Amino acid sequence: METQNIQVDSNNSLSCEEREPVWNLSSLVRKNIQDLTPYACARDEFKGRAANVFLDANENPYNTSFNRYPDPLQEEVKARLAEIKGVPASCIFLGNGSDEAIDLVYRVFCEPRLDNVVAIAPTYGMYSVCAAINDVEYRPVELNADFSLDADRLLAAADQHTKVIWLCSPNNPTGNSLDRAAIERILREFHGIVVVDEAYSDFNNSRPFRLDLGRFPNLIVLNTFSKLWASAAIRLGMAFASPEIIALYNKVKYPYNVNQLTQQQALRMMSDIQQVQYWRAIIIKEREALLPAVAELPICKAVYPTDANFFLARMTDADGIYHYLIDRGIVVRNRSRVQLCGNCLRITIGTPQENSALLGALRQYR
Ligand SMILES: *Cc1c(COP(=O)(O)O)cnc(C)c1O
Repeated sequence: METQNIQVDSNNSLSCEEREPVWNLSSLVRKNIQDLTPYACARDEFKGRAANVFLDANENPYNTSFNRYPDPLQEEVKARLAEIKGVPASCIFLGNGSDEAIDLVYRVFCEPRLDNVVAIAPTYGMYSVCAAINDVEYRPVELNADFSLDADRLLAAADQHTKVIWLCSPNNPTGNSLDRAAIERILREFHGIVVVDEAYSDFNNSRPFRLDLGRFPNLIVLNTFSKLWASAAIRLGMAFASPEIIALYNKVKYPYNVNQLTQQQALRMMSDIQQVQYWRAIIIKEREALLPAVAELPICKAVYPTDANFFLARMTDADGIYHYLIDRGIVVRNRSRVQLCGNCLRITIGTPQENSALLGALRQYR
């Protein structure tokens, strides 16, 4: 895949000289990262030829199967993932959860106290937490009241120091997918990095953005093993992007950022896709039953359409219901103090037994 220039609209009224420069990846990268000589690990320097005496990495020769450093680039995991996700291995980064893939975007592209990022609001909290940790200005732009994306307002919030736009689809905590045409417009018109977090895209049938990397050189798509793949404990997140962006990720990440146990367990999970497909079907079926059942409770004012394995419900008294459920050993997420989400609870789809325990408790709330 080659870096392609973003096409300028043919009906753009600006003269050639006034046009913004075409998108250029290296102009977005922080200078210290551009100039960085990355750490070279022993296993990077020795590659290819067969060997069975490893005296290059100061490892202990005993305690085999755990004594060696893991593959720094996780090639076996990526090869299998490439088949499952339909993306070349050269376009995949693996990290210690999506959290690492989010943090690295700041560390590669955003100059502290100079650059800024734009994001939809409300959305996943880690984008703003990582911005604060990296001392980068975070510009939240409210979604419309129906949680749809206003591309004009998002683009208007960006200036010459905006390096990144954060999108999440299906969005957390609202559950809805963002309009594909609006996302594509942002990808075309914004000459910086656009991250589309698709942590929940496995729970609906729309075309995932990772399959359109070739059309959008400024696109980073995030996926995770934490949701559909039922493996939040192993901490494995993915970024899909051009090989040029993946090379920047690899330059800055910790050398052995994905440990051996995680790589092994990921391979084990990927050897039984049928099980994952079964989970997907059962969770979607439960979702289709639980949403209308909650919607018709007198204590529920609205449930919002969802493409994820959770949904947002606006209640008569979110705080009261939240604590009532806690007293019965049922934990949901109280989002009532989040913008646009007054009196809203975010409810994850559980097993059939868990979902009926929730419904039973809600029906008895007085
Ligand atoms: C749960 C979630 C993730 C997953 O994060 P991990 O660090 O991979 O567990 C990523 N993005 C969003 C929007 C999420 O809700």
